Amino acid sequence: MQQRVIAVVVAAGGGSRAGGDVPKQYRPVAGRPMLAHAVAAFARHPAIDAVILVVPPGDEARAAALAGPVDRTIAGGATRRESSAAGVAAAEALGATAVLIHDAARPFPPADVIAAVVAALAHAEGAMPALAVADTLAQGRDGMLGDVTPRDGLFRVQTPQGFRLAAIRDAHARWNPAEEATDDAQMVRRLGGRVALVQGSAMLDKVTYPQDFAAAEARVQYEYRTATGFDVHRLEPGEELWLGGVRIDHSHGLSGHSDADVGLHALTDALLGTVAAGDIGQHFPPSDPQWRGAESGQFLRHALSLVRAAGGEVTFADLTLICEAPKIGPHRDAIRERVAELLDLPPTRVSLKATTTERLGFTGRGEGIAAQAAATVRLPLRIDA
Ligand code: MG
Repeated sequence: MQQRVIAVVVAAGGGSRAGGDVPKQYRPVAGRPMLAHAVAAFARHPAIDAVILVVPPGDEARAAALAGPVDRTIAGGATRRESSAAGVAAAEALGATAVLIHDAARPFPPADVIAAVVAALAHAEGAMPALAVADTLAQGRDGMLGDVTPRDGLFRVQTPQGFRLAAIRDAHARWNPAEEATDDAQMVRRLGGRVALVQGSAMLDKVTYPQDFAAAEARVQYEYRTATGFDVHRLEPGEELWLGGVRIDHSHGLSGHSDADVGLHALTDALLGTVAAGDIGQHFPPSDPQWRGAESGQFLRHALSLVRAAGGEVTFADLTLICEAPKIGPHRDAIRERVAELLDLPPTRVSLKATTTERLGFTGRGEGIAAQAAATVRLPLRIDA
């Protein structure tokens, strides 16, 4: 039979132990809501055919908006067991032959763990990641040490817990609702199902308490991307001259689309380049009259918002203005400060350089000003963005 493996991401808890006003599954980790990380990991995994998200009743719309590529968002129940059962029922309705039930408070399920859980279902009714306990375990009472518990054969259990559909469906159907279950795997075991252990991962550590958010952030890997931008505008008498967001008194100004701030346009393209979001002309077409005379700072802010939407953070910007006149030196600090302000950076993370072209070419003849820029951003390392 054709396998159809559906991931059920359970984010139905109130998350009160994590502190804060917002349930923990919606709080940001590495630039996006925690639940979005696990959803993305399953959605991009080749062994997973669909993703179902289980959230507190009434929260479906808010969660779906934050979660990313989810096939179905459903309401959970009053307990973890009921939420899990709702997820299993929804997975069955979507034609699942196997389900992976995962806790959204474990935001970074590694691809190899997902693959190992799915593969183990070929020879067991269930499978789950687990880590052998490395620390000595001891009893304690009233702050005093008691007996040591042998750790041989002890494991920390994690999720995703995977099951053949019939095994988990029957386990929920036959469970005595007066009893609370520790997890889905124990329910399947109770019916005699075999649950295989696969190698777990420290990436699966759970976010429960406020300090766990910092620990989760520390597990995120980042990549740095640098991209460039280039722009030219013509110098004309009777125009205002705007360079790097600063109005400069000069005999000529730049003409063209918007305020023709060649420096901010080059920076905008550099920022757009870091998230492969096209160029400034695609976002703000010169043919669109609403951008005539527009202040170019808003273009740069828009590019910044796209970087942030990808979970990114600008770390550095570098701008070179190429012209014979005006002299940039007297305006250097003002331009650096304005660009830094637009990018929410300290001025020490904005570099401004100026050069001439030795009276050669269009810049040398004073016909126009050119600008080139580079921007560096830090993005969480992931394959789907
Ligand atoms: Mg331009």
